Amino acid sequence: MRRKLIAGNWKMNNDLDDSLKLVEKFKSLSDKFDKDVDVLICPAFINLYPVKQSLEGYNIKIGAQNMHFEDYGAFTGEISPTMLKSIGIDYVIIGHSERRQYFNEVDETVNKKLKAAHIHGIIPIVCVGETLEQRESGIEKETVKNQIVKDFENVHASEAVKTVIAYEPIWAIGTGRTASSQQANEMASFIRNCVSEIYGTDISDKVIIQYGGSVKADNAGEILTQSDIDGALIGGASLKAEEFYKIINYAK
Ligand code: PEP
Repeated sequence: MRRKLIAGNWKMNNDLDDSLKLVEKFKSLSDKFDKDVDVLICPAFINLYPVKQSLEGYNIKIGAQNMHFEDYGAFTGEISPTMLKSIGIDYVIIGHSERRQYFNEVDETVNKKLKAAHIHGIIPIVCVGETLEQRESGIEKETVKNQIVKDFENVHASEAVKTVIAYEPIWAIGTGRTASSQQANEMASFIRNCVSEIYGTDISDKVIIQYGGSVKADNAGEILTQSDIDGALIGGASLKAEEFYKIINYAK
């Protein structure tokens, strides 16, 4: 039985004060969170440590939105897996479409980051997904398969099984346009098959596959009850405590 993972990606939102205020709201709701669901929030780098400290004793995990693959060195402005580990970070989002689109993230670096995360015991959430143009040309599955194959190249089965995959069609991110629950589940199931082709069903049956793209309280129920969808990666709606709470409690 796969546990659902509901993750909030705060992106480049919330200064320290706003981050701590939002966390206080989550804390006040947390005893009503569905106990069978893992809850994760991913603030900006600079707010990871204070948010982590504020959540001490609460069952809410903390993740980073990116990291470098090297442990240290002359990479000005970057944050390493060892730095994240040293402050107790549990998860890291890798290959988000905004990083691929605006910061030259490519599958080769996603692959290096995925491996580096596992070396340091951080769970990577690897984002894959097609553009609108690719979907309209009928190459969405080919595109996503290509990403999976490259992102998991030479990744050991013992690490693959602990990797979360977020299917995020780019045309649905921050646009208010959601994939239908059928489209989302079809791709999640296709992704599971891709993982099975590489690692076998023992592994693919256990891999957590999230959907991301304009998930809100009013569409979460339908999306999160699909057979191959094990949670959601949520941008905009994770910035509102009540809405995020409602999504968590839909994830049965
Ligand atoms: C995301 O940032 O991964 C995302 C899915 O954003 P939104 O929920 O705002 O579409």
